Amino acid sequence: MASVWTRLRGHQEQRALFERSLRNGRLSHAYVLAGPAGIGKRLFARLLAQSLFCTAATPGRLDACGECRNCRSFDSGNWPDYFEIGLPEGKTEIPLDLILGSSEKRGREGLCYELSSAPLASERRIAVIDDAQRMNLDGGNALLKTLEEPPANALILLISDSPEALLPTIRSRCQLIRFFPLLQEDLEHLLLEKELAASQEEARAAAVLAEGSLTQAEQLLNPELRELRELVSREFSTFEAMKPLDVAKQIADRIEKISGSTEEQRQNARWLLSFLADAVRLKLRRMSSGDLGDPLLQRMGLRCASDLLAVLIDRILLATLHVDANSPVRLVLEALFDDLARFMRLGPASAR
Ligand SMILES: [Zn+2]
Repeated sequence: MASVWTRLRGHQEQRALFERSLRNGRLSHAYVLAGPAGIGKRLFARLLAQSLFCTAATPGRLDACGECRNCRSFDSGNWPDYFEIGLPEGKTEIPLDLILGSSEKRGREGLCYELSSAPLASERRIAVIDDAQRMNLDGGNALLKTLEEPPANALILLISDSPEALLPTIRSRCQLIRFFPLLQEDLEHLLLEKELAASQEEARAAAVLAEGSLTQAEQLLNPELRELRELVSREFSTFEAMKPLDVAKQIADRIEKISGSTEEQRQNARWLLSFLADAVRLKLRRMSSGDLGDPLLQRMGLRCASDLLAVLIDRILLATLHVDANSPVRLVLEALFDDLARFMRLGPASAR
């Protein structure tokens, strides 16, 4: 039998765990699939659902053929017992309508209603809520009612990269399944398979930096972000001549241009700061392994230069915390580059 699970890289332990529960008749009504963004949790949820609907799978095996009538219908998005909702493009919350129905039809449509109805074509109804931490309080409470008295044939899969942001009352009624970053080789494979990288070398370079996340790797390979990265590298290599506020402005302008929302701005800024911190760490490593050609080293000597780089890394990490705490990206960058330029000019003691 062909298997749809070949579409997924990694996460075989989690698959085995669900398979055991299925075999022992111990499948819960609700799970939280938790783990970093961009590693395949939603695909996993879909494959899990498809496997529970497939008629060709061996009993006790968590598998789906991709060929039977049920599988074909599922793959085309027309399977009547499967429901999936998530964050609509440009929105910061999952609309209550998706969970409880529109205000005219409240309680007579939406995810909770569908789950409470009898399955039409199979044994159970399955619902997936992607980015589940983006349900607001009303949405969360509506779902909680369903979780408190789960319909006999329902399976609910919540997907989240920050499960701690879910209502505690929701968390306590779901079984938590942790997912981990992709292995570097799996990520490389995916980048080539999806034609996101043009060559093995490009795929490898992105996979090394992407922390096991396809989303992060995609960002690394994005031409606009690459330009931004090059701009930062260029400025950083001629730091002593840098006009910090000009650089901060250029970078902030560029980030605004390529980001759709303020959340995306923050994400791009975070990504840029981690790139900058990595660049400084690399410089530090080179220096301490005896690369004496660095102009910084020639100017201030090894001890002082490595102190300086450590100070720069701390300052960049502080900027990341500010971005996480929702400070405006532009202000964070201005303050950061102003400080970096000063430390570079006056040496590490100026940071104290
Ligand atoms: Zn099938």
